[in-house]
Amino acid sequence: MLQLQAKPVVEEIQSKTAEKTKAFTAKHGRKPKLTVVLVGENPASVIYTRKKGETAMKLGMESEIIAFPWSATPEQVRATIDRLNGDANVDGILIQRPLPPSFKEEEVLYWVSPEKDVDAFHPINAGRLMLGLPSFQPCTPAGVMEILRHYKINPSGKLACVIGRSSIVGKPMAALLLQANATVLHTHSKTPDLKAICRQADLVVAAIGKPEAIDASYIKEGAVVIDVGINRTESGKVVGDVAYDDVAQKCSAITPVPGGVGPMTIAILLQNTIWAAEQREAQKVSR
Ligand code: NAD
Repeated sequence: MLQLQAKPVVEEIQSKTAEKTKAFTAKHGRKPKLTVVLVGENPASVIYTRKKGETAMKLGMESEIIAFPWSATPEQVRATIDRLNGDANVDGILIQRPLPPSFKEEEVLYWVSPEKDVDAFHPINAGRLMLGLPSFQPCTPAGVMEILRHYKINPSGKLACVIGRSSIVGKPMAALLLQANATVLHTHSKTPDLKAICRQADLVVAAIGKPEAIDASYIKEGAVVIDVGINRTESGKVVGDVAYDDVAQKCSAITPVPGGVGPMTIAILLQNTIWAAEQREAQKVSR
């Protein structure tokens, strides 16, 4: 059984991003810049935000965190995003989730302008992804695709079961696997007899947010298993959506939690940031 660790994949992507960042800075006389907007002090969000900023700087980018209190209104945050959209020195903007309940996700999705939308959440970028057009990569699903590429697991011709249909993970994951010529069984909480469907799959991607819900009875002998889940148990342990020890007995390859899909997200985010910077400079030239 092969353990699909993120570490070598992250190192490979970060090294390419650092090289591109260096070349960009030399050519344009400025560093690519990522701005993260944080609302409130959710401990996990504070850690993720700090990590994004630190990694951006490690790769040679400029990074900025703009923090609002949880009591901030949508209008206040929107005004800042509008300013950042118009700031020529800002290449990528990210609004850290979760947001307070007064923020309506269906409106927030449109705030960051599509050319700075490094999370790939804007409906234009989601649409471009579905159509297979050049676009920002949805961070977590693209991270899964990079793991598969690195470990030479080609989804083409395989039967892939994606469990979960969120806009952040499940839906773009299914789209990327389809583009990679997998036949995708896209399942969710209302799928009847999920186990029987999942057991047919050569490749299973679990993204449901239920600690260790997918055990070996869902898995075909020799399948590849990707665990997107990050769940904290009552004892404080971080576990995935897959019962690792049980499934590892049956599958041919599996991502661990932590250390599997999780670290890929920031690597892709920063790949998106340098891409945004390059695209924006290229557009200036063509104007
Ligand atoms: P979500 O709650 O938005 O969506 C969960 C999806 O799973 C829903 O579509 C639902 O239909 C489906 N689902 C729920 N229970 C199910 C069940 N028993 N059987 C089948 N389908 C079921 O969650 P999300 O944002 O997609 O996140 C999923 C998991 O991935 C979470 O554990 C989250 O923490 C993790 N996550 C990790 C990263 C990362 O690695 N960087 C990024 C995003 C999310």
